Formats: sequence, structure tokens, C-alpha cells
Amino acid sequence: MCILITAQCLTFTWFKSLKRIVMVGAGPASLFAAKHLAGECEVTILEETGHVGGSGLYSDGKLNFNPLIGGDLTEFMPISEAWGVIDNIRENFKELGVDTEPRGEEGQRQLEREAARAGIRFVRIDQSHIGSDHLPRVMQEMRKRLEGDGVRFELGVKATGLKTLGSRVTGVKASGRVYPVDGVLLAPGRVGSGWLIELMASLGVGMSYNPIDIGVRVEVPNEVMDEIVNEHGCWDPKFHIYTPSYDDFVRTFCVCPRGFVAKEAYEDELFGVNGYSMRDTSSKNTNFALLVRVKLTQPLENTTEYGRGIARLANTLGGRKPILQRLGDLRAHKRSTWDRLSRSYVEPTLVEVTPGDISMAYPGRIVYDIVESLERLEAVMPGVDSDSTLLYGPEIKFYAMRIKTDKTLGTSVGNLWVGGDWAGVSRGIVGAAASGIIAARGIRLL
Ligand SMILES: Cc1cc2nc3c(=O)[nH]c(=O)nc-3n(C[C@H](O)[C@H](O)[C@H](O)COP(=O)(O)OP(=O)(O)OC[C@H]3O[C@@H](n4cnc5c(N)ncnc54)[C@H](O)[C@@H]3O)c2cc1C
Repeated sequence: MCILITAQCLTFTWFKSLKRIVMVGAGPASLFAAKHLAGECEVTILEETGHVGGSGLYSDGKLNFNPLIGGDLTEFMPISEAWGVIDNIRENFKELGVDTEPRGEEGQRQLEREAARAGIRFVRIDQSHIGSDHLPRVMQEMRKRLEGDGVRFELGVKATGLKTLGSRVTGVKASGRVYPVDGVLLAPGRVGSGWLIELMASLGVGMSYNPIDIGVRVEVPNEVMDEIVNEHGCWDPKFHIYTPSYDDFVRTFCVCPRGFVAKEAYEDELFGVNGYSMRDTSSKNTNFALLVRVKLTQPLENTTEYGRGIARLANTLGGRKPILQRLGDLRAHKRSTWDRLSRSYVEPTLVEVTPGDISMAYPGRIVYDIVESLERLEAVMPGVDSDSTLLYGPEIKFYAMRIKTDKTLGTSVGNLWVGGDWAGVSRGIVGAAASGIIAARGIRLL
């Protein structure tokens, strides 16, 4: 009898196979989902490039620890639980060697007061800054630990489709083979969204358009932001503004102290600008995005098409280079020229640009919003509204489609989960990581 029971137990253990979960994209969403499933499931991550870390790998590595920034976690859980998820991510980055100690409490309170007096809002957030030059090491360490926990990375493998049977996914098609699955997490980031949208439509998964953010990259001398960044200890200050003329929502985003402006590919033949800072190399300037939120209803809901139209026009006007304009020229209704730019006190960190006129490419309403927001920001960042301030365009954040999901980011296809930026639920490293954790909770119940 005793021997029989032991044999049965052995047999049971022998046949208990782990669920096969394939994740598309090795960005923060998949990495954090994998971390929460490793050991319980057989996790394979397919990544079309040769590296792990996603678009976050080339980012500045500013981590915003707040459940309402870079996505809204309260859509999926109560706020107290959402803070728990954020704390978990913070702890994880700490284990990877990132300094995540909160700082600048008093400075943040002062900024809040100054902003309130200027009629704008300062959003308090605990932030850490890894730096573009250190982020690859952090991600490499995360990869090593995940591999140690049994997660498999298939690099240079591009997912091209899903194999389905009835209402379930049975495999992920990639690089000429099919990976058999019990569950799938799609998290290909913003770059990978095009073909997947068509795939979702063909699978009958519901989608809606998210608002889009359209604006410029503002570049000022470090002195303009020094007090906020260094004295108040706030690396990426978030100011929210409602503009006087249109009552539109405008925000500062991705502040890069002592940073550089860079050209960023949006998709084939379409590009814009972005910014980054390094820990070990600095410039004389600070840059940040100033973004106008645009939501469309009728008859055009498609904010992606709207954003593409603006980017296309700006790219054409710039002769396939970003447009650069002095704020003084924009206000004076003149295009910038190299000669006029040479009279600016700010030396551009991106020189592969065309001096031009942003108002030729952007709708008047957005230009108004930008100019009025800079006027408001002057109260908290003295000098930002100077004629010398540089504006690069286009800077557009395509969040586009929001995939319809349940509260664990599961779709109407029973064993298909989505996460990260492409699903329209995050806009940053921590938000994407949180969405991966949420999806992992659902996948675990498979
Ligand atoms: C220049 C830049 C600076 C940024 N700075 C910051 C910052 O300072 N702080 C911050 O919080 N956020 C920043 N972000 C945003 C942040 O990087 C993203 O929000 C985050 O990485 C999104 O994570 P994700 O997992 O959704 O997707 P991603 O990180 O985009 O990863 C998706 C991965 O999927 C892969 N992929 C796509 N399609 C396929 C396919 N078909 N098959 C296989 N693999 C595929 C891609 O190659 C990519 O590696 C920045 C982004 C950029 C581009």
C-alpha cells in the first residue's frame, strides 16, 4: 500500500508539465511578467532584435514610481493595491543595483506651492534615474537572473502571427516555425503595433483609440532647470497645465537634464524627436517634451492617423530632418534660419535639423497651446519662455489603440494576454512593468 502511494505520487510529479507561455517582445512588460511566472510556467520570450530590454534599453532610464503616471493602474485594481505593485517594481530595480531611495520631499512640496501660485499643477512622484549608459547593465543583470530562473530568451526571432484553433491560440509563428503555447503575452512595444492591430481585428478582439500627445521638444540652458533638478532634487518634474485659450491639457514629459535631443524613428519613413541624458556624459542643456493631449471623437476617432498626418507634414517640410525653431521666431511668425539660431543663447544638441517654422506643420491650436504653456511655465522655470529657447518638432507620442481586456489584461481570446505600450495601457518603463505583473496574475490562473 505504502509503496503504491509513493509510486502514484512519483507518477503524478513526473507527468505534471509546466504551462508553456510565449511572450512577444523583451521589453519591461514581458520581463516583469516573466519574473512573476518563472518557475511556475515554462516561459519563452521572443525578441526580434539581438538584445533584451526593449525600447527602454536605449532610454534615459527615468523610473517614475507612481501608479497614476505612465499608465493608470487604478483601472485594474484599487489604489492601495496599485501602490503595492509599484513598490514591488521599485524593490526589483533596487535588487538590480538601482538607487531607488526617495529624495527631495521638501523640494517637491516647494514646487507644488510655486506651481499652484502660477495656476498650474506639479505632480509629486518618487523618481530614480538610471542613465542611458547604465541601463543596458541593469537589463543584462535582469536577463541573467531570469535565465537562472529558467526563462528562455530567443533573440533575433520576430513573431509574425498566431496559430489559432477555435477561440484559443495554439502557437506563435516566428522565423519560419511555430512555438506551441498554452498562453501568450503580446508586448511588442510601440514599434511592433502595426501588424498586431490587424491581427487583433481578425481575431475579433475589441479596440478603441487612445488620445494622442502632440508637441515639441524644448531645449534650454541647464541653468533654467538647475534649481528644480538639483536644489529640489526632482529629475523629471511633471507639470500639468490647462491652456487659457483652448482649455487643452498640456504636460511636461521626459525631462533630460544635461541631456541631448535625438531623432527617433516612429515607423518606416516617419520620424520625430526625443531626448535622453547620460550619467557620465553631459551637455550644457536640459530638454523636455511639452505635449498637448488630443482626443478625437466624430467623425475621425483615429488619433494615430491624425498624428501621422502631422508628422508626415513636418518631416516633408524639414526635408527629412527634424525642424528646429527658436521660440522668439515662432512668436514673431518667422521661420528660424541658421543665422537667427546663432543669435540664440542655447546651442542645439541635435544639429542634423532644418531650421524652420513649426507653425507650418502643426495645427494653430497646438501652436497656441505650446506658446501659452511656456508662458505659464515661466513662473516655475524662469528663463524657459525666453526668445532663445529652442523647439524641435515633431514630438508625438502615439499611444493609439487601446486593446479591450479584462482586469488582468486578458483579451476575449481565452489564452491571449496583452501588455505594455502597444496595448495602450502604459507609457513608460514602470507602467509597462506593472502591466506585465498584472498580465502574469491572469496567466497564472490558466
Ligand atoms: C528614446 C526613448 C526614451 C525613453 N525614456 C524613458 C524614460 O526615461 N523613462 C521611462 O519610463 N520610459 C521611457 N521611454 C519609454 C519606455 O522605454 C517604454 O514605455 C517601455 O520600454 C515600454 O515597454 P514595453 O515592454 O511595452 O515595450 P518595449 O520596451 O518597446 O519592448 C518591446 C520589444 O518587443 C520587440 N518586438 C516588437 N515586435 C516584435 C515582434 N514581432 N517579434 C519579436 N519582438 C518584437 C521590440 O524589438 C522590443 O524590444 C523611452 C522610450 C524611448 C524610445
